[in-house]
Amino acid sequence: MLDSLFKNKIPFAYEYFSNLLELVFQKKRTFPQALIFEGNDTKTQYLFVLELARILNCQNDKSKDCNCINCKWIKSFAHPAVNNVSQIHFKGENDESKTVISVKQAREIEKNLSLSSDYYRFFIFFSSSEKEYFENELNDFKNLGYETNINYSIQPLEYKTFHSATLNAMLKSIEEPPENTVFIFLTKSKEDILPTIVSRCLVFKLSGHKESLNWNDIKGLVSNYPNITYDIAFDISDNIQKYLKETNLDCELFLNKFLEYLKDILKQNINNNDLAIKINKDIRLINDAIKHTRANISEKIILDTLMLRIARGF
Ligand SMILES: [Zn+2]
Repeated sequence: MLDSLFKNKIPFAYEYFSNLLELVFQKKRTFPQALIFEGNDTKTQYLFVLELARILNCQNDKSKDCNCINCKWIKSFAHPAVNNVSQIHFKGENDESKTVISVKQAREIEKNLSLSSDYYRFFIFFSSSEKEYFENELNDFKNLGYETNINYSIQPLEYKTFHSATLNAMLKSIEEPPENTVFIFLTKSKEDILPTIVSRCLVFKLSGHKESLNWNDIKGLVSNYPNITYDIAFDISDNIQKYLKETNLDCELFLNKFLEYLKDILKQNINNNDLAIKINKDIRLINDAIKHTRANISEKIILDTLMLRIARGF
């Protein structure tokens, strides 16, 4: 059902949703009604959601080449029940707002939900503006049989475009939607969304693969170790953040590799007492940082703090 493209890009989500879809079709589980996707690759998140919507709405074998009317509509972005919601999508009459997802849009959704539907209804929330793509930018869409005439950007939601008034107007719809309705919020981090919404959603981190984290990259990023000083601590943190963004990798994966790296240095320098003391201290600091990633503190704060603490020595 789900294409192997996702197996490489977002392996955890691929596995989870492959199993879940099987169970949904066997009527042993229902599909979640409110989801948040977190991660750096919003375009892949979006394509993934379209594929979930397509598979749930397909009247045939759910394969990537299926030509049933639902699959055809979704692949040409024309399905009546699969809705983009952004600053430039799903605007009702008399809604002049161009920079935010407005309260009027929340009311439109409510109106839409009051009508019955035979489909799995999807509302995909993201941030968008007009955009022209280079041909190869939409290769993943093309490979899955989608039309590539997309003329809007696909970006993560931000607090400034999607603020509390709109979210509050939608709370009831999200809490008690009609059957077979799915709200999906595409984000970089769930911190960009009001906590009252987050608590009603299943949050899913869509990040990259363990093996794709390259040893040499790690060494390069922290090559100043053990001489990480105050004046370079923030630069190192910035470089790591940039690397994680480019590779779509999780901060926790990086920290675990950093930990392994320090343990290696420790083994090689077992007779260097001062260094051993420093490394043991820093291992504790990294373990703290790993705990913080699980407490959903932002990546920037975690890495800045860690590098400063390593520079300071406690
Ligand atoms: Zn189909």
